[in-house]
Amino acid sequence: MNPNAVLVAQNVSMTFYDGPDRHLEALGETSLALDDGEFVSIIGPSGCGKSTLLRILGGLVQPSSGEVFFESTPVTAPRPRIGFVFQHPNLMPWRTTIANVELPLILRGTHEKLAREKALAVIDLVGLSGFEQALPRELSGGMQQRVALARALVHEPRALLLDEPFGSLDALTREHMNDELLRIWSVDRKTVLMVTHNIEEAIYLSDRVLVMSSRPGYITESLDIHIARPRIRENLYTPEFASLMKRLHHSLATGSA
Ligand code: ADP
Ligand code: MG
Repeated sequence: MNPNAVLVAQNVSMTFYDGPDRHLEALGETSLALDDGEFVSIIGPSGCGKSTLLRILGGLVQPSSGEVFFESTPVTAPRPRIGFVFQHPNLMPWRTTIANVELPLILRGTHEKLAREKALAVIDLVGLSGFEQALPRELSGGMQQRVALARALVHEPRALLLDEPFGSLDALTREHMNDELLRIWSVDRKTVLMVTHNIEEAIYLSDRVLVMSSRPGYITESLDIHIARPRIRENLYTPEFASLMKRLHHSLATGSA
């Protein structure tokens, strides 16, 4: 195992049993290792097992086979140092921004004053200063997703698992959130694994893009992205970017490289 790997999946797979003779193979045997500070994206057709893989890596569900290791120890339940952001922000509608963000800390017994301090710091980091007292319904979709990101960051995770975090945002807001995510990531370079449907977003953000086949999903390709950092929007209009787009489109369409 790579000694620098922060999060490792070894031969994990998932079969769901819906009845005595009804089962669904959701995720084929999959292995991956995320290095310290690496930003990796996964693209693949709908229903190929991307969310299932992320949930397994986050310890939210147990795989049918295989094992997950975080900092070299087996993951069998959710860990505070592995942050999770879903497509829908899942905020408590009656709680303000600050109350939503500090909730996971308070539930874990953190002293109120410290929880508040930490929550204020991550709210500032995600660019929501001034909206601490707003309720979710008073915030735009992009802002709600920032709250969800702040809530994931409040534990100071080492790894972040993002499941189509910008999937329900309009195109311009998504672009803006991509740049915001890069800014936040550059602060302390967490290890990130992000699922997305958007090939452009995957290339723009990542050090590496993994392609999955249709269900049961297998990783069919791992493509290194050598575009220099910090990334800027001009990167999108280069021949290099166009050729990466073409390559990944082709991989997705054929299920292989
Ligand atoms: P993706 O995120 O790539 O769209 P998912 O990981 O959500 O795919 O799902 C993969 C397959 O597993 C789908 O066919 C989905 O319907 C099925 N599935 C997901 N979760 C469950 C579950 N808890 N029980 C039964 N089937 C499930
Ligand atoms: Mg999914």
